[in-house]
Amino acid sequence: MPGRPRILLVEDEAAQREILAYNLGAEGYVVEQAASGDEALLMLRESPPDVVVLDWMLPGVSGIEICRQIKARRETRSIPVIMLSARSEEGDRVRGLETGADDYVVKPYSVAELLARVRSQLRRVRPAATGTRLTYEDIELDPESHKVWRGGREVKLGPTEFRLLTTFMEKPGRVWSREQLLDRVWGRDIYVDTRTVDVHIGRLRKALRKHGGADPLRTVRGTGYSLG
Ligand code: CA
Repeated sequence: MPGRPRILLVEDEAAQREILAYNLGAEGYVVEQAASGDEALLMLRESPPDVVVLDWMLPGVSGIEICRQIKARRETRSIPVIMLSARSEEGDRVRGLETGADDYVVKPYSVAELLARVRSQLRRVRPAATGTRLTYEDIELDPESHKVWRGGREVKLGPTEFRLLTTFMEKPGRVWSREQLLDRVWGRDIYVDTRTVDVHIGRLRKALRKHGGADPLRTVRGTGYSLG
């Protein structure tokens, strides 16, 4: 199903990786697995996930170095990174956070605890995916009931338009390319022409303006679309 949060899990120990991948999958996330730092960096370049769960001790490129690279690149900087480490000394924890990690979990950890940390990071970057109601100016969106209101009046949207609006409302001001919207709203494995995006944007605009009000969506020439 498109729109589900994507977690990149970087852990070289297969048994631990599989347990985590299973549990993250059971939470409804799409889990991508990398067993080494090089693999992780490649996957990050190809399609940035919503959250990275990153083991500190990896063969080759270390977790610390991957974290540093994620936080150094503009395109990946805002992706939350949760570091996993067997080290528990305070100095290591500080070093982990200094490289820009957003959270730090010491092994052995409970799966429930790690899931809670992932959820807490997702609440920041994908609020609708954790059921949080979204508001932008006079538009309100409830991800649980799939309802949208503008100026207090309900706006009826088709499922695709609803997912589009959710994507925009999670990051007002962000410019999305058609390809990024295809990935997020339709899913990566489905072949849809980028012109389809324009058609659904048109429908969304029409629905949002049904009771009047300005067009909240902006067309960014040569790039894509943004909300506000
Ligand atoms: Ca390891």
